[in-house]
This record gives sequence, structure tokens and C-alpha cells, in this order.
Amino acid sequence: MARRKKVYEGKAKILYEGPEPGTFVQYFKDDATAFNAQKKDVIDGKGVLNNRLSEFFMKGLAQIGVPTHFIKRINMREQLIRSVEIIPLEVIVRTYAAGTLSERLGLEEGTALPRPIVEFCLKDDALGDPLVSEEHIIAFGWASQQDLDDMIALALRVNDFLSGCMMAVGIRLVDFKIEIGRVWEGEFQRLIVADEISPDSCRLWDVETGQKLDKDVFRRDLGSLTDAYTEVARRLGVMPSNVTHATKPTLIN
Ligand code: 5GP
Repeated sequence: MARRKKVYEGKAKILYEGPEPGTFVQYFKDDATAFNAQKKDVIDGKGVLNNRLSEFFMKGLAQIGVPTHFIKRINMREQLIRSVEIIPLEVIVRTYAAGTLSERLGLEEGTALPRPIVEFCLKDDALGDPLVSEEHIIAFGWASQQDLDDMIALALRVNDFLSGCMMAVGIRLVDFKIEIGRVWEGEFQRLIVADEISPDSCRLWDVETGQKLDKDVFRRDLGSLTDAYTEVARRLGVMPSNVTHATKPTLIN
């Protein structure tokens, strides 16, 4: 088989050249990182779960008319995606206080916010992805005012969709991060959801028990990350149990 050209390797994914111009193959690794890669581990099966979960959310978004980069899943760890020009901002939507918002404003984690709040962070590992204001974004030219309005509208639609999906299976969507990319259709630019949507980039709490089912399990050493993500996938009916753990053959008596 011809070797594919690696275009980019990030902390959790690798991008390869796609089979056609304007496409990439996105490979989901098992690597987990937190606190700007100061904490690292390899979590068996995480890439398989995130590939499936991201497919599930991106397909659902397409069904309600939210454009995404997802074209099709290729195999357990890879999906075909549209190439986009990533806007260098992390778009975070919060419905409940947690994480850095709680730290910044002294809010107890889990406090319901008056309305969903959209925040932007500059994608810059060396600076630790700092929070930036709309003023900064416009002044430094990372996005235009029109882009900003479109990004907020897109992010809030994703929030409504994901919150509904999760609430239907007894999970509270506390917050999440998405990345948005530009594509050109003729003369027109369109913004579409890119990167991934998975428990790596969301906070997901069981509605009844408050149990964390997201990357905070890894960040805060709360148990098995694979078990948490498998539980999310199981509740959403995304994949049969066990397949992610099948790294070694097991003897059946
Ligand atoms: P916080 O700002 O509280 O750390 O994160 C808010 C939300 O955005 C959380 O759901 C968190 O998982 C997500 N998030 C923030 N920064 C990143 C990042 O660099 N990578 C990923 N995967 N998720 C992020």
C-alpha cells in the first residue's frame, strides 16, 4: 500500500493527505495530554472511541443543517474530512460553571449560568491558549466581525444540539470547545465546524450522580478514561461494548 503523506501531527490526532484535493484523512491517536501537555499518557482505545463519537456528533449536526468538515469514517481510527483553513481560536461554550471559568470568577463548579456563554481562546500552545476578547480578535485580524457573529451563532447551535443529545441519555453538557474553519464555495466563504467533538473537548456529567465522563477523569486522576468514554458511547448507542479493549486475544473457556 502506498505510504500516505503526513501533513500535521497534533497532540491527539494526525492529519494525512486525503485521496482527493481538498480532503484530509484524520487519524485519532490514543495519546492523552492535559495542562498544555505537562501531563501525558497513552489510553488504550481512546482514539477509537473519539473517532466514533466525533462521527456521531458531526453527522447529527449535518442532519440539522450545521455544516462540518466530516465526510465519512474510513475505519476504526480514521475519518475523511474536508480541508479547511482553521481560524486560530478555540470557541468555548459554557452552560454551567466549571474549569477555568470557575477559577477565574470564583464560581462553584456546576453553577447554572444565566445563559450560555461563548468564550474565545487563542490557539497557541506556547502561551497556554490564553482567553482573548472580541476586541483582540478584531484588532489582531484573527477573524472579522462577521466571522465572529457567525462563529457565535454556530457555537450556540452546536450547544443546543449537543445538550439535547446528552440530556436524552442522562448526561449534562457542562461546557465544550470547538474549532471552526473557513471553506470557500466559489467566491463565498463559509464557516464550518472542524477538528473533533468528543469527550476530550467537552465536560460531561451524569445527571443523577454528577460522575464525570470526560477528559477531567484524566486531568484530575478520577479513574479509567476508557471506561468513562465507553459509557458515553454506550449510552448514545454509538458502538457495541468491548471493541475498544480488544488489544489482545482472550481465551474463551
Ligand atoms: P476550561 O477553559 O474550563 O479548561 O475548558 C472549557 C472546555 O473547553 C472544557 O470542556 C475543555 O475540555 C475544553 N477545552 C479547553 N481547551 C481545550 C484544549 O486545548 N483541548 C481540548 N481538547 N479541549 C479544550
